[in-house]
Amino acid sequence: MTHPKSKPENGEPTAPAHFIHKIIEEDRAAGKNDGRVHTRFPPEPNGYLHIGHAKSICLNFGLAKEFGGQCNLRFDDTNPIKEEDEFVHAIKEDVQWLGFDWADREFYASDYFGQLYEWAVDLIKKGKAYVEDLSADEIREYRGTLSEPGKNSPHRDRSVEENLDLFERMKKGGFPDGAKVLRAKIDIAAPNLNMRDPVLYRILHAEHHRTGNDWCIYPMYDWAHGQSDSIENITHSICTLEFEDHRPLYDWFLDTLGVAHPRQYEFARLNLTYTILSKRKLLQLVTEKTVNGWDDPRMPTVSGLRRRGFTPESIREFCDRIGVAKANSTVDLALLEFCLREELNKTAHRVMAVLKPLKVVLTNYPEEQVEYLEAENNPEDPEAGSRMLIFSRELYIEQEDFMEDPPKKFFRLAPGKEVRLKHAYIIKCEEVIKNDKGEVTELHCTYDPKSKSGGATAGRKVKGTLHWVSAPHAVTAEVRLYDHLFTEIEPDAIEIPGSLNPNSLEVLTDCKLEPDLKDAKPGERFQFLRMGYFIVDPKDSQPGTPLFNRTTPLRDTWAKLQKKG
Ligand code: ATP
Ligand code: MG
Repeated sequence: MTHPKSKPENGEPTAPAHFIHKIIEEDRAAGKNDGRVHTRFPPEPNGYLHIGHAKSICLNFGLAKEFGGQCNLRFDDTNPIKEEDEFVHAIKEDVQWLGFDWADREFYASDYFGQLYEWAVDLIKKGKAYVEDLSADEIREYRGTLSEPGKNSPHRDRSVEENLDLFERMKKGGFPDGAKVLRAKIDIAAPNLNMRDPVLYRILHAEHHRTGNDWCIYPMYDWAHGQSDSIENITHSICTLEFEDHRPLYDWFLDTLGVAHPRQYEFARLNLTYTILSKRKLLQLVTEKTVNGWDDPRMPTVSGLRRRGFTPESIREFCDRIGVAKANSTVDLALLEFCLREELNKTAHRVMAVLKPLKVVLTNYPEEQVEYLEAENNPEDPEAGSRMLIFSRELYIEQEDFMEDPPKKFFRLAPGKEVRLKHAYIIKCEEVIKNDKGEVTELHCTYDPKSKSGGATAGRKVKGTLHWVSAPHAVTAEVRLYDHLFTEIEPDAIEIPGSLNPNSLEVLTDCKLEPDLKDAKPGERFQFLRMGYFIVDPKDSQPGTPLFNRTTPLRDTWAKLQKKG
């Protein structure tokens, strides 16, 4: 488990001195790349960004910013079948929302298709690439395994002229999909499978989101990636660990072509408990409608987290705290929620909202009377001010705050017991009203007029304090509560729907809120006292009828873990 880093006295986060950070400092001290730091974030536009991508974004843009360098946004769009403009737009929106700016450096691997083709011709001319007629299955068979060297293809020794002719005819559309590929000629017996004559180009008669039908051959990711970095003069190519074995191949390409050579560094990808971060599986959740789109508040996507109520600051803080390591590990999801709570505790106004209402009638409170009681908006923030709460004879409290037959340590309401209503009076439960089915429908209570909060006798102590709203004045609203989408702690390890949580969404349609919340604006965040942090859903809310998503409960599991640990 990753531990949060410490913060200095002034509260400014220190730059975590992880290994890539140290490498860049050394490079600069040694005058490498003329001291330049140029990174890039290279998403493939085949899905929405998730919290793992946020880690990579914070790392790449963060290092560039810290060292006065630049970070490009580059779409690695080499696969026309899976890539769409919708994803390009969503990715740009998310990177911006996270607080990063690529200025005018928005690039596409597809912009380099011409150059990549010429470089492939170059390789052929150098006798370092050949056109292959074997099928994908045959290529796999010939390639051998980790314990067994491969054997050369019968087409490996085609002449340069024949290869040039065939490759050009591939480009001109002379062959159907899958009929031929272009392969690098490296070493079919190499211990590293990536070096066993990898495929560089395939035939694909498919329309590309940017180049349309200009091409019917497309570069493989491996052929495009390192060269794109080279074209953009990237100094530090940062990617995840699974590309460590590809590094010798990228080096071979760049050395053989004799072009600018960024150095690649690999770091451990983010894994989070109860969360899948495989794009393939996230896409499956969307297409099979297990969730309501990429921005469903249960999704670990940046757009889902945004709708759920996470802030860019809390996500950046999380990425800072988890650090950058060389070994894979799994981070506790509770840490992400902890980062958010730490922020919202200081910034979100505290209001009262009853999610599952139970009516309370104060039998000794005058029928027509109302009172206004002062309530502070956030005790953590002196600037937050206060508001007036309306109090009357009929109120709502939370159903779970009453028990007819309570256990010993239940300090909430029960027959004959007293509680304080927050910012208001102490009340005592006198009578329990039930319907035909024996369900509790209403409580008759009395209030103690001398116990008003802030008043002379308010000092009288009772153990429990409850939140409440005035029944005739409350607004009714829909509130959506969320739980983990998966019950399994490492759901990425198994196939969906193996561990889907059937209770990941609970919709409450009869919640009773303080009257002012009627005018809450989409995207506004609140703490509902005792119930958690909530955001006005930016998508499904209508003017005058806000709908709330619970971002997190108040329960702080991460802090508890820290204490124990
Ligand atoms: P795919 O399997 O489709 O390649 P991907 O998650 O790698 O999925 P990319 O669009 O290629 O998606 O990712 C863009 C960048 O984000 C890459 O540099 C990748 O290393 C990084 N990245 C992806 N997932 C994570 C993760 N879980 N943690 C950290 N970085 C990640
Ligand atoms: Mg990838």
